[in-house]
Amino acid sequence: MKRIPPFALQRIPLNAEAAQLQGFKYASPETGNRSKIGGSPDFLQSASHPVCPDCRQTMDFFAQLDSIGDELSIADCGMVYIFLCWSCYSAQAFIQSS
Ligand SMILES: [Zn+2]
Repeated sequence: MKRIPPFALQRIPLNAEAAQLQGFKYASPETGNRSKIGGSPDFLQSASHPVCPDCRQTMDFFAQLDSIGDELSIADCGMVYIFLCWSCYSAQAFIQSS
């Protein structure tokens, strides 16, 4: 098991189109700003730790990526969770919605 210390990820729009698409009308202020690498996953639903399809070990949490805005909302203000196997270098991702 490899634990990564937490790193915040900032969503910085790289052009005008991206700048227009961020933000939510009705979601809580932290929605859209929950992306991070490492630390512990902030599950929106029940905890889930995938098993590596190659070696069958429980995979390590790597990152979570938040919804961007109302037009780019992942399953109703949800997030993508990414898990890695550091032995096999395989990755798994899944979505939870809030
Ligand atoms: Zn593995």
